[in-house]
Amino acid sequence: MTRLVLASNNAKKADELSALLEPLGYDVLLQSSLGVTEADEPHPTFVENALAKARHAARITGLPALADDSGLCVFALGGAPGVHSARFAGDPKSDARNNELLLSRLADCDDRRAFFSCTLVLLRHADDPQPLIADGQWSGEILHAPRGDNGFGYDPLFLLPEMGQTAAELDGALKNTLSHRAQAMRHLLTRLEATRL
Ligand code: IMP
Repeated sequence: MTRLVLASNNAKKADELSALLEPLGYDVLLQSSLGVTEADEPHPTFVENALAKARHAARITGLPALADDSGLCVFALGGAPGVHSARFAGDPKSDARNNELLLSRLADCDDRRAFFSCTLVLLRHADDPQPLIADGQWSGEILHAPRGDNGFGYDPLFLLPEMGQTAAELDGALKNTLSHRAQAMRHLLTRLEATRL
């Protein structure tokens, strides 16, 4: 098995990724289990932040590292909240306040188009000149009021027009096959199968 450090402290993400990567011969370890602190995410794009996180974890552990960065991009807001999605309404992080702020920013706006985006970066080592990069986008529209109790973040405001449901009304397992993260993972797996570390 090739050990791989996941540059995130989210155990759920680690479980999900382990299930996909173990059959390919990768043993996914959480960065916190290896004493890696969280990296700064100061950049304006998902790819730069994911790269910074992966490089930080690879540098400290000496292992290949996988990082992701994701968020919601709203057309009428020039792509905001984007990389600031988690803390759109400031500290402490609050999904409820983020959603309220989003609704108020779009109050007089007819263009409700938005997409979730996820970028995954895999570095073989900290100075790897050619990281594996994969991303996924999930398109929808921002409602005027929340609907549904599943999921997290902006899911209750994110309508999938062709399904007539918000991401928070979808069954969790179904969301995990459709989402930006799922799409990015599928792209990464295709690339990994073709490129052994
Ligand atoms: P992270 O990169 O998974 O930490 O996500 C950053 C932020 O983007 C989250 O805190 C959410 O606000 C938002 N976000 C990312 N993915 C989703 C999703 O699948 N549903 C709802 N919100 C999301």
